[in-house]
Formats: sequence, structure tokens, C-alpha cells
Amino acid sequence: MKSVILGLALLYSGTLAAQQKVFDYFIKNATVYDGTGAPGAKLNIGIQQDKIAYVGTDTLVKATHIIDGAGYVLSPGFIDPHTHADRWLKAKDTNYLYPWIAQGVTTVFVGSDGFGTYRIADEFATFEEKGMGANVAAFVGFGSVRTHVLGRDVVQPGKVDLVEMKLLVEQGMQEGALGLSTGLLYVPQIWSKTPEIVELSKVAAKYGGIYDTHMRSETGNIINSVNEVITIGKEAGLPVHISHIKVSGPSNWGRSTEVIALINKVRTEGLDITANQYPFVASLTGLKNGLMPKWALAGGNTKMVERLNDPEDLKKIKAFLKDRTDEQNKRVVVSSLDKSVQHLNGKSLYDLCQEWQMPIEDVAVKLLKEHPGVSGMSFTMDEQDIINFSKQPWVMTGSDGGGFHPRTYATFTQIVENFCMAKEVFPLEWAIHRATGMTAKKFKLPNRGEIKEGYYADVILFKPEEVKANSDFVNIDRLSEGMRYVFVNGKPVIEEKSFTKELPGKTIKKGQ
Ligand SMILES: [Zn+2]
Repeated sequence: MKSVILGLALLYSGTLAAQQKVFDYFIKNATVYDGTGAPGAKLNIGIQQDKIAYVGTDTLVKATHIIDGAGYVLSPGFIDPHTHADRWLKAKDTNYLYPWIAQGVTTVFVGSDGFGTYRIADEFATFEEKGMGANVAAFVGFGSVRTHVLGRDVVQPGKVDLVEMKLLVEQGMQEGALGLSTGLLYVPQIWSKTPEIVELSKVAAKYGGIYDTHMRSETGNIINSVNEVITIGKEAGLPVHISHIKVSGPSNWGRSTEVIALINKVRTEGLDITANQYPFVASLTGLKNGLMPKWALAGGNTKMVERLNDPEDLKKIKAFLKDRTDEQNKRVVVSSLDKSVQHLNGKSLYDLCQEWQMPIEDVAVKLLKEHPGVSGMSFTMDEQDIINFSKQPWVMTGSDGGGFHPRTYATFTQIVENFCMAKEVFPLEWAIHRATGMTAKKFKLPNRGEIKEGYYADVILFKPEEVKANSDFVNIDRLSEGMRYVFVNGKPVIEEKSFTKELPGKTIKKGQ
């Protein structure tokens, strides 16, 4: 009896509290998916300043704006844990992050693949000065740390170098990084050995951070690469996260089952290992990374071009390239944001061989000499592997967006439109959870990722059946549609399906 009375009193005082507040926005009658993976429930939400100030069934409230959400889904804004939005945030007008907010993304992580700076405070100040369409969190990039201390050549750190590198990671962590990111396919990170990464990860561990990685191999050596992640997690004692998990190359198709079995095994042993994934069959990276022999990448683009101009080196590089098959060359398609090479976008290496009447080694050399930074999509994944990974309870949505690829424009909407609605791979509550609550929890973002009183008002309102990915491999830079409202920290960046040109994003420092 006592508890019933207490319950009624609480309900009554809750009602009073709701009635006394004046909300900036009150969204009523929406089906609320709270981000925890729970199914939707009819609830009303009050937003006051940057917070969710009320979640309940009251309707007698005062509010500046009342939105009728009947027939709509309300959920936390999506969190994108792996992006290359860094340069979008630094350039004028792209800092609105339209490709992301059109998908309902309200937080992006930058500094991915080891490319991020260790000077997090300076980086955040630069972003804040311009303003941000969405919230931003960052990783310390292993690449910048290694480049600062060792340069971009093939070298191993001595004891003093390692101490210096650890100090840089420490700086990044103290300034609010979520953890250490690596991209072990890229120069100079490619030259590192596991113990070096373990040492640096220990610093991230000390600050409660995470190890986030683009693994050394996503092809033939995938199992060794996953094992390396596991070793780092165990030896450095921190949660680990595999970005854009995939098995690449036709000879590896089907091996998602091996990778999943290995990860499930170490998860049951207690290792906190998770992954993110984008739902597309093509990847995107600098063409040089897939084409050139490793040694020819040492030192960076300038040195690579020097080698392409050196007759001896060129001979070796061409010998390496000429074994590529037509089949391989058909799978690689130029796709670059770089204006000087955009006229080639959409053409495969095979197409260029035909068009330029040149063998592949000459095509590759010409391309990389003229445009060392050119990027390309590789159509090397199998749909079934993507679906296998997507069903795992430890896989989140992450776009890897930033480049000229549909994943920049349509990762989260593709999940809702195709994986959820069309193919029914998983229900909507799961599609939302793996893009909100699960991500916030793994990366320890306080008070985000759920619809809860006191949490930041990163809130989206949409009809799942209206969500359209729009971007595809032919028409890449089309924005997604279907978001009626997107709130970032209580301010709409999309209002009645139109961009408001507001920049309410905040930088999120770890634990704050
Ligand atoms: Zn990557």
C-alpha cells in the first residue's frame, strides 16, 4: 500500500513538474524508441534549452512550440563512431555536415584511422570557431603521433621515441580524446609492430579510453589482424573496437563466419570487443594503398612520386603492378572529391586501360603521378558477409563517411530503409539501438544516446517508411531524406524537413 501511495505521489509531482515548466519544444503522440533497444512506446517529450526535460504521458503543458508527432518515430539522434568529417568541419559551409544530419546523425567521431591529431584542444577550438552542425568527439591518431616522433619512413621506435610518443597520446587523452585510433594500412602506421601499439594503448587505458582500429588486413590476413586487436585489448587492458568490419576480396567471401566465431569466443572470455560497419559492398581509400607495393609508399606522397620518377624504382613498381588481373581492375573505380581528378570518377581501372590504350601498370603510374591522393572505390565485398556482421549484437552502425562514396550520404538511412524495412534483417528498435544507446555506452558519451530526462536533446523525428537513402554508386552525392526534425542540443538543424542553417553542435570531451 505504502509503495502505491508513494508511486501516486511521484506521478502527481511529476505531473506538476511538467505543468510548471515551459518547454521550448513539446513533441506529443510520437512512438518513442528510447535507444536502449526497447520497442517503441507512445510518449510525449519536452525539450528545454539543450536538454530533454520531460518524458511522459502528460499533455497539459506550456511550450513555445508544440509538434504533433502522431504517426512518427522519435528516437535519439544517431551517433556515427567512424567518420572522416574532420575536413568538412574545417571548411566553410561544409561544417553544417548536411550529409550526416540529413540521415539523422547528431554526433560524429573524427580522428579516425589514426589520422587525427593529438592536439585535441586546438582541434576542438578550430571546430568551435566555425561552428558545427552536429556534435563532435575525437580520437588521438596514431599516425600523427608516429609522424611527429619518427617521420613517415620505415623505422622502429627506440626507448626514448616511445616515451615521447606516449606523452603525445597522453596529451590527447587529457584534452578529451575518446581513445587511440589506428589505421594500420596507412603510412607510417603500417610500419608499426604490435608491442608499440600496446604501449601507446596503455596510455589510453589509463584515462579510461578505447582502442579503435582500421585493422592491418581486411583480406587474406584478416584472422591475424583480429588476433592483433585482441592482443592489444588484453595486454593494454582496454576496450577495443574494429572500425568498418569486413572481409574483402572474392577469395575471402564467406569468412565473416570465422571472424564472428573468433570475436564471439573472446567476448565470452570477457574481452570488450565490438565493431562498426557500413552497409555497402564497396570500400573507399587512396588508390595508392591498394595498388602500390608497401615499400614504395614509405615517406608519403612526395617520396612515392619521386620513386615513380626514378627509373630503377619504376621498373620494380611496374613489375609489381602488371600481375593485376582484368577482374581486379574492373572492381576498382575512381571516386574522388579532388576536383582535378573528378572527370575520371566512375571509371574503373579496366575502363582507363581501354580508354588510354595502356596496360594496367602504365595506367596506375600515370594516375598516381598526376594525382597521388586520388581515391577509389573497391567493389570487393559480398552482401551476405555484410548481413552476417550486421546481425551481431556487438556491431554498430558507422559510416566511415567523408569521401565520395554513398556511405557518406546514406549509411544510417540505408540501414533503416533496406536492412530494417525492406529486408527485415533486424527490427527498428535494434536499428536505432545500434546507432544510439549502444554506441554512446561503448564510447562513454555521458547523457547522450537515449531518450531520458536530463539527457541532451539530440532527438530525431521521422516516419521509417519515408526514409530514403537516395545515394547510390551512380548518384553518389545525393542527400538522404525522411527526417522531419533533427534536434542537436535542443536546436533544430532540420525543421519540417528543411535545413535551418543552425550550428548547435558541441565538442564532446571524454567523460564530459
Ligand atoms: Zn578506415
